[in-house]
Amino acid sequence: MKFGPRASNLELRFRKVEIDLKRTSHIPELREIIAVERSRGRKIALIPTMGYLHQGHLALVESAKQSGAYVVLSIFVNPLQFGPNEDYSSYPRDLEQDARLVEVAGVDVLFHPTSEEMYPHPMVTYVEVGQLDTVLCGAKRPGHFRGVATVVVKLFHIVQPDLAFFGQKDYQQYLIIQRLVRDLSLPIEVCPVPIVREQDGLALSSRNVYLTSEQRQEALILSQSLNEAERLLHLGERSARVLETRVRERITNESHGVIDYVEVRDAQNLSEVNQIESPVLLALAVKFGSTRLIDNKVMGVEPLV
Ligand code: AMP
Repeated sequence: MKFGPRASNLELRFRKVEIDLKRTSHIPELREIIAVERSRGRKIALIPTMGYLHQGHLALVESAKQSGAYVVLSIFVNPLQFGPNEDYSSYPRDLEQDARLVEVAGVDVLFHPTSEEMYPHPMVTYVEVGQLDTVLCGAKRPGHFRGVATVVVKLFHIVQPDLAFFGQKDYQQYLIIQRLVRDLSLPIEVCPVPIVREQDGLALSSRNVYLTSEQRQEALILSQSLNEAERLLHLGERSARVLETRVRERITNESHGVIDYVEVRDAQNLSEVNQIESPVLLALAVKFGSTRLIDNKVMGVEPLV
């Protein structure tokens, strides 16, 4: 960024932020940077991402900043979590634009390792979180959550954060991380951040860039049908199957989306639900062309605050 001699206060703030951002793709260097901050008594916050950042990611940064911790944001498109026919090689990437965004957002360190840095040897050690990874996206994307859990635990060991921030856009992922932290007694507070949506309701996702304008318009049916299901629940409908059927019908009738799943599950442990009595997760995955979108809503019989 270039500033003239009469830089405004805002520009001066940007300039300061710019100087403050550290970047590294090397694990030992990252550890050194963090060790200095920890020795100064700072808490460390980690935000794992795959980059191509948007306002959803920046909401995680904002929450992390609010905690007062030293904020580490990682960008790593993790090959372990992509299936053989998924979009690993075409996943959108723009490191320099991401660096500018996190700079302005006030991230302290950007960690952007290569695959060789993260996986210098063929991996034979994995982290698997049972039960929670067998349903919803876990059932449709075999090995996906094993890849996620493994890379997140690896990042946890590299960064040793006190806090880690995850978006509820990937609600199942958040539950899996929360569970592995509990099961393995990791001294990390897992902090969920609500879904950030476009004004018209579409959940922000790096993959939205793949959508044609027609598909983007049709994809609005996802948030609309989730909202309708919640309204039905609040009007007294308690049958999980009725809510699922209504969402499926709307997606099928009002778009060209191909449904991967639409399911109501217990919001705490993802177990099956028939009659809704406590908070549930209504989660869906739908393909528009070759772009697979996910969305969800956590809903209670009474409106949740
Ligand atoms: P990703 O780069 O897609 O792996 O996402 C990195 C983190 O950002 C994950 O914890 C996601 O749940 C979170 N995230 C992505 N999109 C959103 C969104 N629209 N709202 C809230 N969090 C999000």
